[in-house]
Amino acid sequence: MQIVEDRIGAELFLSFLGVGGSSGMTLGSASAVLEDASGPFMLIDCGLDIPERHEQEYGCLPRAIFITHTHMDHVSGLEPLFYRAWFNMQKDGKPIELFVPAPIVPLLQQRMVTLPSPLAEGGVNFWDAFHLVPVTDGFWWHHLWFDVFPVRHHADHFAFGIRLAQHFLYTGDTRPIPEVLARLADSDEQIFHDCQPVGNPSHSGWNELKAEYSVKFLSKLILYHYGSEGNAEALLGEGATTAVIGHKYPV
Ligand SMILES: [Zn+2]
Repeated sequence: MQIVEDRIGAELFLSFLGVGGSSGMTLGSASAVLEDASGPFMLIDCGLDIPERHEQEYGCLPRAIFITHTHMDHVSGLEPLFYRAWFNMQKDGKPIELFVPAPIVPLLQQRMVTLPSPLAEGGVNFWDAFHLVPVTDGFWWHHLWFDVFPVRHHADHFAFGIRLAQHFLYTGDTRPIPEVLARLADSDEQIFHDCQPVGNPSHSGWNELKAEYSVKFLSKLILYHYGSEGNAEALLGEGATTAVIGHKYPV
């Protein structure tokens, strides 16, 4: 049995490994790490570049991952992570905790787990390196309860956000979700939100957030998943706050 340290009452930070959209990699795949003074304890999303970025930043593999949805810029890093985790397990014997909203477990299976033999020598399954935890309304990790909620991205119950009450709410990829923020972000939660200067059928635009969110929510937004440095400058010019890779945001 894995013993997890109690993080209740600890000072928490959210730090981005990548802030970019799906069409470019220079800003990194959108992904963030929840950490405290003793180090990282949960990764949110795992694009192709994220395992490498996590090891460079923290010198270790993630111990736990929450997956918001199965677009490749959010899950394709699970393949390189499988190899690192599997060979790491030969030393410490622990799989990586993988929290996945239950409606998207079949999609994750289709996209990442159908190769019959991920190792050339055989004898190993993809799931041997991960401990899958299907999630409905939320989950426990380090004695903290994380709420999980559907957002608006491509289809109903296709993408999900995550919230730690009174600490933070992370939307994942989404269109504006004022009804969700009204329910889950009216305490002191810092809000990390999908945004680029102009919206589209898949993602939020700053013009749309200004139209749909109250001043109270707009003042708590830190924006990510923008397409370029130019996008970030445009958002900053509009008075928005954009996420910066490596900065530790107190939450
Ligand atoms: Zn997406």
